[in-house]
Parts: sequence; C-alpha cells; structure tokens
Amino acid sequence: MDAVKEIDPTTWEIISNEEDRQRNTIRLIASENYASQAVMQASGSVFTNKYAEGYAGKRYYLGQEFVDQIERLAIERAKSVFGAEHVNVQPYSGSPANLEMYYALLELGDKILGMGLPHGGHLTHGWNVNFSGRFYTASAYGVNPETERIDYDEVRRIALQERPKLLMCGASAYPREIDFEAFKSIADEVGAYLVADIAHISGLVAAGVHPSPVPVADVVTSTTHKTLRGPRSGIILCKDKFAKDIDRAVFPACQGGPHVHAIAALAVALHEASQPDFKDYASTVVANAKAMAEAFLSRGYRLVTGGTDNHLLLVDLTSKDVGGKAAAVAMEKAGIVANANSIPFDTRKPFDPSGVRIGTAAITTRGMKPEHMDTIVGWIDKAVLSREDESALGRINQEVREFCQSFPVP
Ligand code: PLP
Repeated sequence: MDAVKEIDPTTWEIISNEEDRQRNTIRLIASENYASQAVMQASGSVFTNKYAEGYAGKRYYLGQEFVDQIERLAIERAKSVFGAEHVNVQPYSGSPANLEMYYALLELGDKILGMGLPHGGHLTHGWNVNFSGRFYTASAYGVNPETERIDYDEVRRIALQERPKLLMCGASAYPREIDFEAFKSIADEVGAYLVADIAHISGLVAAGVHPSPVPVADVVTSTTHKTLRGPRSGIILCKDKFAKDIDRAVFPACQGGPHVHAIAALAVALHEASQPDFKDYASTVVANAKAMAEAFLSRGYRLVTGGTDNHLLLVDLTSKDVGGKAAAVAMEKAGIVANANSIPFDTRKPFDPSGVRIGTAAITTRGMKPEHMDTIVGWIDKAVLSREDESALGRINQEVREFCQSFPVP
C-alpha cells in the first residue's frame, strides 16, 4: 500500500479507514469473508495488466504463455476440489455466471423456476427487477409456512404445473441443507435442466460439510468470495456435455477479456481450499453458526426454521418489537455489522423487514470459536434492546473493539 499512499493519499486514506473498519468490527454479513494475504496479493498481481480474450491455447492476443498456465491451473484445481467434469473460471462474479448459464441453456422467454427472493432466493433466480425475470418467464417456489423449509412436494407440484425448462436451486438466505437429489428427481420428472447456485455455500461444499450438487446437477454456478474465501469472482462447473455451450456463453456471448488477476487469486484460494485446515475452517463456520443459534434462542429470539445447518441464521425480531433495519443500524453503532433481511412471509417491507441475516464465515476466518458466540450474541441483544441509547451503544462498541484485537485479520 506504500505506492498508493505516495501517489494518491486521498484514496490511501479511504482504503486505510476501510481496513480499520474491517479490523475493529465483528463482520456478520453472511456473504462476506476475509481473503488471505496470498489471495489478495495474487489479485493485485501483474495479471491485472493482461488482456486474454479466448481460452487457454486459443486466444486473440499474444503474450499468453503464463495466462494459459494460470487459467489451466485454476481449472484443474476447481475440478479437483469440486469433482467437476468441466469448469469455466472466467465469470466476473456470481450474477454474470448466472447470466451466462441461462444464455447457454435457454432461449429468451423460456420458463425458469427458482426460489423466490422473499423466501431466500437470489435476484438472478427469476426476480422481476432482474434480467432473469425480464428475459425469461419465471415462476417461484418458496418455503413451507410451518417448517420454513423447502417443501419438495410443493416444488414438485409447481414444477408439474409450470413445466420449466430450467429448475434453479440454491439461495442467499436459507439456513438449512439443500437436498440436491430431491431437486434432481423433480427436474427429471418435468424434463428440466437442474442448476444449483452454490454462491453462499461453495466453501462448505468444497470442504465436504454440505452435500455437493456437482454429481447431480447439470450446471453449478458460484461466487468465489463468500465461504470459499477467494477473490471477488465467479465460476461455472458443468457436465462435459454442456462444456462448449457454457464456454461460448461466457466468451464471446456475455463477456470480453477475463479478469486474469482474479483467476490467479482463485487458483490460490482453491489451493487453500484443498488443504486439510480448510475442512476445519468450514466445520467451525457451521459450529459457530449453531452456537450462535443457541445463544439467540436462549435470549428469546425466534430463528427462521428454528436453527441452522450452514453458515447463516435468519433472526426474526418480531417478538422483540423492532424492525430489521433499526436492529442492524443499532448493531452497526455497536461495532457489529450484519444486514436487515426479509423473513419468509414477511409482513414488513423489504427495505425494513422483520429479520436480520447473520453469517459466521468472516469471524471464523479471524479465529473466533463456538465459545465466543455467546459473547457476540450478548452484545447484539444489548444493542437491539438499547438501540435508542447512544452511550450504551458506544460502550458496546468499545468492548467489541477490544475483543477484535485478539482476532487478527489475515
Ligand atoms: N447467487 C447467489 C445465491 C448469491 O447469494 C449471490 C450474491 O449474493 C449471487 C448469486 C450473485 O453474486 P454477485 O453479487 O457476485 O454478482
């Protein structure tokens, strides 16, 4: 960072402030993590300077000897970590990966069926303000009103009624294990492609602490920066028979030159994900989420589905008589950062919903363990209850700051 400081002190100061913020707060945003120094260095490497339209061995510009090596390395590592037949590492992020996957498999206007956004699905799974809801004819399944879990019989019923060409599974705010085999049998029954978007859980899948969709789904898409702890990027894994269509959809259909610096950083992240300690990391992510769930339940909070199987929890604040927005703002003042989130069948508006989504991927990277979760939830509870009391929030913030000093960021 010395060069940034010297050339552009204004930008340096903003980056430094963000560094301090990340160091001195407890980050519970379920989609965030701390990438390692190795991943960050590869991401900031000289590959930033290289254009590489095309694929290894078939590029449009010269000077690709090392670009080809790094892209092949990332692909081989992804194949090995996920057991995939074919991998494309060029998507710029998760949303482009989904755009490219749809482009490869569908014609404009084709029917898709995905989890509705208000029930935990992602915008790109057919929501009406997103390209996926505009370019395709989208319908949605949700969760069961009683169990708040995916009801596979209901998914089957909707699939039989709608007859989608593509069935999408995967979510942004679903705290339970996803049964990919059940989705596959529904997709087969209606003759649909099965696509799994594992953006949130790809690190858990890589480590074997969540079942993998790779053997069953036709195509799997993911971001690489959430539980996988890599650079901000995207990835598509598929069966060999879709390889050509996927590759053509990524380039030249939807993207130009790949971000080779991100591919290099992904190669590093995949190396890290293949090490034995990554399995420990992913298991601790889940153990921390379960410990947090217990700590919330013991303080009288209701959790969507009653708990968690993965890296996230959805806390329903209704019984505490506070909206998600006010709770998240109070938490931030106390130094604990999470996002307000709709809960299934929410009666409040999406911008100020009834819940808060909490994830343990980032704090686990810092070394926080199940025994620390009660302390953190204690602070959250205090912050929510004293949300009008600025000095109480300030005192919690000070305690959080001190606590954070024991957990270095990478
Ligand atoms: N898919 C899912 C399930 C997600 O949760 C997200 C991001 O949160 C994405 C796709 C999109 O990723 P990005 O924001 O990198 O485009």
